[in-house]
Amino acid sequence: MSDIDADGLPSGPFCPRCGGELDREILPERASLRVALVCPAHGAVSLADPFTRGGA
Ligand SMILES: [Zn+2]
Repeated sequence: MSDIDADGLPSGPFCPRCGGELDREILPERASLRVALVCPAHGAVSLADPFTRGGA
């Protein structure tokens, strides 16, 4: 199975609970954007901060 999907993007990470592919949701914040990884069954699984680094 290819790890490139029909959009030409790498397939997303997978839910640690059900193994389903996670959707990405962009969450605009005051100073940055966040990408939330959301399982259709389990809701938000994790948040990443692709545009900010460091700190707590
Ligand atoms: Zn899940």
